[in-house]
Amino acid sequence: MTDIEKLQIYRKSKEGKGYKKIAAELNIPVSRVTAYLQRHKEEPILHCECCGKEFMPLPGRITKRFCSDSCRKKAWRERKKKDPSFYMEFVCEECGRKFKAPKYKRARFCSKECFQENESRRWRIENGK
Ligand SMILES: [Zn+2]
Ligand SMILES: [Zn+2]
Repeated sequence: MTDIEKLQIYRKSKEGKGYKKIAAELNIPVSRVTAYLQRHKEEPILHCECCGKEFMPLPGRITKRFCSDSCRKKAWRERKKKDPSFYMEFVCEECGRKFKAPKYKRARFCSKECFQENESRRWRIENGK
């Protein structure tokens, strides 16, 4: 049973819901709800899946798995880094070299230098210099 499941069971029972109702809502066997509630009287504490810190999600946000937005984003980035489909090959608009970057970036240049070079040329053209 995950921490989130435990907390959902606990909160629902506090709302006055019966074992059967909780089980149906969470789509788990009644026996698991019963077993859990008979053994635990305290509200369970969630641990952030990113930094491991204990945290208490607000009511209605029980499905949270991270203590903060920054942890959530960090975990997302870490997961993506390991996924090869996260990257794609781009061709630098300045030097024509191929390079890899995360898809979502829609990268146009292989480096900061190429970006700056392109910017300054465009500036010169726009300003007739
Ligand atoms: Zn965290
Ligand atoms: Zn380049």
